[in-house]
Amino acid sequence: MEGVATVVKNAGSHYELSALPAWDLFPAVLRGKVRLERSGATNPVAVGDRVRYETDGPADIEHPAVITEILPRDNYIIRRSTNLSRQSHVIAANLDQAVIVVSLLFPEIKLPFLDRILVTCEVYKVPVLIALNKVDLYREELPEMVAGFRRIYEGAGYPVLEVSARTGEGVNALRERCQGRINLFSGESGAGKSSLIKALDPSLDPKIGKISAAHLQGKHTTSLYEMYRLASGGYVIDTPGLRGFGLVDLEKEEISKYFPEMLREMDNCRFVPCTHTHEPGCAVKAAVDAGRISPERYNSYLGMLEEDQKFR
Ligand code: GDP
Ligand code: ZN
Repeated sequence: MEGVATVVKNAGSHYELSALPAWDLFPAVLRGKVRLERSGATNPVAVGDRVRYETDGPADIEHPAVITEILPRDNYIIRRSTNLSRQSHVIAANLDQAVIVVSLLFPEIKLPFLDRILVTCEVYKVPVLIALNKVDLYREELPEMVAGFRRIYEGAGYPVLEVSARTGEGVNALRERCQGRINLFSGESGAGKSSLIKALDPSLDPKIGKISAAHLQGKHTTSLYEMYRLASGGYVIDTPGLRGFGLVDLEKEEISKYFPEMLREMDNCRFVPCTHTHEPGCAVKAAVDAGRISPERYNSYLGMLEEDQKFR
């Protein structure tokens, strides 16, 4: 028997598949040939990959299905190893949306950190939804701060949804936005990512998942990624954070292409390529002066340029 299914769990030596949208998990292993063909990354198959498989009857742990082919990916997200071995690890593939969970306070947001995540999502072509969490803690006292945040990010082209995992505000709207999609959840630790996933579906408890994953990592070198199904429809992949995602492969001249609001302006720069720093006739700098590009985002861009130079 042959079929096509999606990888919902990567346990290092074996996988679990399900023919989405059905949620009927069965074990699978990788045929050796497929392993060799994808030797560029430490893992040839990632959560979210659509694969072709073969079985002789119902698959179980003693008779797992055999993955024979990985179907082309719409997109994928890579984490580079922290060492300099140039090894990379595919975290997830075929993502419909990245839900970036942030909070303005407790802990205080670092916009350059958020902007790095957004650039990463642009590089990997994953549509973004910013979930502005914990609004119960600061919106009433600091409405202008919330409005300022929305102005910066909606102005750049990103949807912002105000939510509170504590009060449940915006959770229905978020649930709707996640329906029928494979959603990668990310954000700085403490912003409330786990609480929000739990609010979306109380049967999910990412904190428990995290503990067992940390426990496993002590024994194995591979990290564990898993897709969960939301009772309301749609799927969630929880990541510990996009912090380690390198921008090292981006050329200096390329970075601005991944700021959508800069991409819109840069065709009109007098010089090509333009770093949008010192060049005369720079349309990006003119747009910053005219208020079409926020100074905060432009500053993040300058920070990335500088960091990029430090790498070289
Ligand atoms: P994670 O590290 O991003 O997964 O964050 P957690 O979900 O563990 O949340 C960090 C802390 O913030 C916990 O103490 C949560 O109870 C709290 N928290 C999460 N969401 C909210 C919220 O919407 N409002 C308030 N007041 N606290 C929240
Ligand atoms: Zn320019």
